[in-house]
Amino acid sequence: MRILLVEDDPMIGAAVTDGLRGAGYAVDWTHDGDAGSRALAAGTPYALLVLDIGLPGRDGLALLRGLRSHGSALPVLLMTARDAVGDRVAGLDAGADDYLVKPFDLDELLARVRALLRRAAGRADPVLAHGRLRLDPARRQAWCDEAPLALSAREFALLHALLERPGAVLSRGQLEERLYGWNDRLGSNVVEVHVHHLRRKLGEGAIRTVRGAGYAIGE
Ligand code: CA
Repeated sequence: MRILLVEDDPMIGAAVTDGLRGAGYAVDWTHDGDAGSRALAAGTPYALLVLDIGLPGRDGLALLRGLRSHGSALPVLLMTARDAVGDRVAGLDAGADDYLVKPFDLDELLARVRALLRRAAGRADPVLAHGRLRLDPARRQAWCDEAPLALSAREFALLHALLERPGAVLSRGQLEERLYGWNDRLGSNVVEVHVHHLRRKLGEGAIRTVRGAGYAIGE
């Protein structure tokens, strides 16, 4: 899952970026509203936007209104100041899905991110499951036939992406875009390598190769 963060405060931005990356998300961090708008317009398949309201240039509310006026349903988590009730109301009415009041606890940020991603995928159950596989994003654990799997962070993220929509075929390019941010170094066949390792751990039949199209879990 790839997340766009728009935050001008260097300390908060670094803490949020580190926290999200530590939880296995790919994060692109922009420091003002105009750069945030450009990142959104570039067509990267972000799963979520974490948005500060007070920003240099275009502020968070203007960015949000622009996003919604273009028909985007991207989940948006606002970060607001403690005393700014008006900002929170305006933000929710402008199309934000949730908000956090600064300073916030990283665990709460991560729980709200998981809840928003779950809702965006149309799921009520926090645990993803298909066939013999189960994956719990909160515990960062996956199981095959109830046996816990020892997965690297990238393998976990890849399995998560495929289990999010069983049956959907994701191309190598789509997986790269979902799993890696601007600052990640990408080897040319990195997705194939992770699929290869995952298959060794899950069994050969767990991930289907759809020739010329990509990878899928399930029919
Ligand atoms: Ca700010």
